Amino acid sequence: MTEAGDLSTFQSLGVVDVLCEACERLEWKEPTKIQQEAIPVALEGKDIIGLAETGSGKTAAFALPILQALLDNPQRLFALILTPTRELAFQISEQVEALGSGIGVKCVVVVGGIDMMTQAIMLAKKPHVVIATPGRLVDHLENTKGFHLRSLKYLVMDEADRILNMDFEVEVNKILKVIPRERRTYLFSATMTQKVHKLQRASLKNPVKVEVSTKYTTVEKLQQSYLFIPSKYKDCYLVSILNDLAGNSFIVFCGTCNNTQRVALMLRNLGMSAVPLHGHMAQEKRLGALNKFKSKGQSILIATDVASRGLDIPHVDVVINFDIPTHSKDYIHRVGRTARAGRSGKAITFVTQYDVELYQRIEQLIGKRLPKYPTIEDEVLVLMERVTEAQRHAKMELREFEEKKKKRKRPHEDEEVDIPAIRKVRPGKVKPRTKISKKRK
Ligand code: AMP
Repeated sequence: MTEAGDLSTFQSLGVVDVLCEACERLEWKEPTKIQQEAIPVALEGKDIIGLAETGSGKTAAFALPILQALLDNPQRLFALILTPTRELAFQISEQVEALGSGIGVKCVVVVGGIDMMTQAIMLAKKPHVVIATPGRLVDHLENTKGFHLRSLKYLVMDEADRILNMDFEVEVNKILKVIPRERRTYLFSATMTQKVHKLQRASLKNPVKVEVSTKYTTVEKLQQSYLFIPSKYKDCYLVSILNDLAGNSFIVFCGTCNNTQRVALMLRNLGMSAVPLHGHMAQEKRLGALNKFKSKGQSILIATDVASRGLDIPHVDVVINFDIPTHSKDYIHRVGRTARAGRSGKAITFVTQYDVELYQRIEQLIGKRLPKYPTIEDEVLVLMERVTEAQRHAKMELREFEEKKKKRKRPHEDEEVDIPAIRKVRPGKVKPRTKISKKRK
């Protein structure tokens, strides 16, 4: 027996030994705030609406109660976890499998970009937990013979605000129609939007609200700054900062898939180890890119907002907002990739003549004025010649690749948009063609 009110261990929350051991193996010393709040409620058999973000430990907050219920009532196709992106789906699956390793839990990930047939075969083996993006799951529910979720006991909607913002509302409603009404439902969301509220009313029964306040604050150990520069010099400033801060790991956020690809190519043409991550890449390439980056094989990840939420990349030292986020809340998610778990980090936001209004909105949201990132324009612009050359090559490579792709005539949405082979480059710092004359003050 533990003291009432003690929330300091997984045991004290009511988690059974075999699952506590799994937490120990993961070296989790104590439950996080959201776990302390959600797990006891979930173990009482209640529905939950959880307001928490990625990084709070919310995956285990819903996974542990589900695994515990599965132990009591071993059954195939027991739980469905809906999540907005493929990367998150794999990440959740990894965590559920790690937590359930002692009880032999079987998970299947059902996301776009991977062959339907392979997934159908895996689903036919009837896993305990299905982790899915809504679109592909509906595809299987409608087209895969013999697959249904009529015995489901648990439904989790993870990052519900994002699922709904990505226009998956129709799919979610379709899924809700074909699963049993008698079930437990956990709905997790970073924000309580009107759409989430509507979904909550439609899908949860007398839910208990659990909340950890991460209210648009950015952590103290995060040094944030901005850089006001003409749009035409952005590439040059990026190269200069990457040079200055060499030795760190970076995520550079771009606004579009195309720009992500272009920036990655340009940097690689300068001998930097940059790897792109965006929604037009085939699924395996995205996972490959992420794994390479996670294992520190590459130190610069160039990404769209695909990577701004939900991805657990522990060692990012610097986040660069190369293209300013159009939704200011994305700023919080982007910079949240650094200064995690008590470590320090830097976030630098490029603001051009076109971005002033968006930038002001960001400052309003975070409630503070940020300092300027110190640079000396003359020093930066000596790199211009080399950067221009790298830009030119990157453009050519992109064009060549587009042409090759057209010739191959593979119009499928998820066809590979791979980074073309890089020309031979010298790794290391980019040096200007001319000598830097002025010293940094
Ligand atoms: P999540 O918010 O679920 O994506 O979790 C973020 C990160 O926190 C993941 O890397 C988890 O492995 C980790 N984590 C979850 N719970 C705990 C805990 N109680 N102690 C330490 N780390 C945790």
